[in-house]
Amino acid sequence: MPDRDDYRSLFAEYFDARCPDCQNSRWVVENGVARRCHCFTEELAEHRLAFAGIPPSYQRCRLDNFIPQNAKQREALSFVEMFITSFQRGEALGRGLLIRGPVGVGKTHLAVAVLRRLIEQGFTGRFQNFLHLIEQIRQSFDDSGADIEGKLFRRLSRCQVVLLDELGATRPTEFVFNKLYDIINFCFDQRISVLFTTNYLDHAARPGWSAPAASPAADSEGRPTTEPAGPGSATAYTLAERIPQRLYSRIMERCTDVVLQGSDYRLRHKAKS
Ligand SMILES: [Zn+2]
Repeated sequence: MPDRDDYRSLFAEYFDARCPDCQNSRWVVENGVARRCHCFTEELAEHRLAFAGIPPSYQRCRLDNFIPQNAKQREALSFVEMFITSFQRGEALGRGLLIRGPVGVGKTHLAVAVLRRLIEQGFTGRFQNFLHLIEQIRQSFDDSGADIEGKLFRRLSRCQVVLLDELGATRPTEFVFNKLYDIINFCFDQRISVLFTTNYLDHAARPGWSAPAASPAADSEGRPTTEPAGPGSATAYTLAERIPQRLYSRIMERCTDVVLQGSDYRLRHKAKS
């Protein structure tokens, strides 16, 4: 039979995790009044963070380690801080951010930092990669019995904020785009805020942009049908050319444009470390 100390070492993690203030009862009594212990709210925040599904590579992205490299990035940082304040006041519910910029300037870092801060403040949020979302929509057609779409809507309806990373990264069929429109529309109608990131700028924000370098092949709606080449795609097309007009208008109606410019954020940080 193991003695008490053996049990203690076997379950060391459990004993160490005990809250010294409430012995894990989750309640503390002060002046005869019971209130929730701090560990209860911390645990809830941990659950909300786990639910958010932030990918491991972005887990460390916070506002305090987003280091602006130029005036545009500083401006973007103060803007998202203002957004968080108005979100807390209930003024930004159902509104969103469209964080644009070339590859590697820290768009996802900034968006994840906003998501994380809101989660820490008690809101429920979720990270969603655009390509994965499109794949889920496709799967819901292939396997209609699995209720993938229902699950997706139920998951979203628990959120006050959703991060949709890499908007426009792929161009699915019109049918899939219509489903995507329904999902984004659902979010805005339910007063769920959406934080979009995209590599695609617009005409005005593209440095040196005057006219398309070459007219891409377009479908009946005037959208380019070919994929732009490589990661430098931000200079190949605008966001308006990458997603249907109806979706673009809905996003522009509900979101504030935050444009990030600068040298490659990931490469720079790698060089420093
Ligand atoms: Zn406690």
